[in-house]
Amino acid sequence: MTDCIFCKIIAGEIPSYRIYEDERVYAFLDVAEDADGHTLVVPKRHCSGLIDCDGESLADTVHAVQKLCAHYIRDCGFEGANVLNFTGECAGQTVFHLHFHIIPRKTGDGVYSFPRFKKCTRTLAEMQKILALG
Ligand code: AMP
Ligand code: ZN
Repeated sequence: MTDCIFCKIIAGEIPSYRIYEDERVYAFLDVAEDADGHTLVVPKRHCSGLIDCDGESLADTVHAVQKLCAHYIRDCGFEGANVLNFTGECAGQTVFHLHFHIIPRKTGDGVYSFPRFKKCTRTLAEMQKILALG
């Protein structure tokens, strides 16, 4: 997609700190520089996000996320990782090309990568009625 910053990164038109690449997936460091090793993993085929992504691209991307998390933990001195995805503008998505954030973690690193939620407004039973699928 011509106007997409991640498509431009994949095409090499915008520089990036590449971490991993195969035929269908690209992974690179997030420019935010907010956590050591903060990585973005994206399918090479453009899709705007989790909902519109074809199953094959999604599976390939998640597989690469698994591979990178294992590598960071086994080979790179990290002990764990948070994997995050923001779906939709209201959820904080700013780049509309599917991506997963990997935040590599170490005990006591002081990184807070899980959202700090307020109290929910509905009971679990109410939410089950609203959300149950099938
Ligand atoms: P999200 O809010 O989930 O859509 O995340 C988009 C992420 O892309 C943010 O964490 C940005 O810091 C990151 N980002 C934006 N432009 C670039 C770029 N040129 N290279 C690497 N990361 C980028
Ligand atoms: Zn794109």
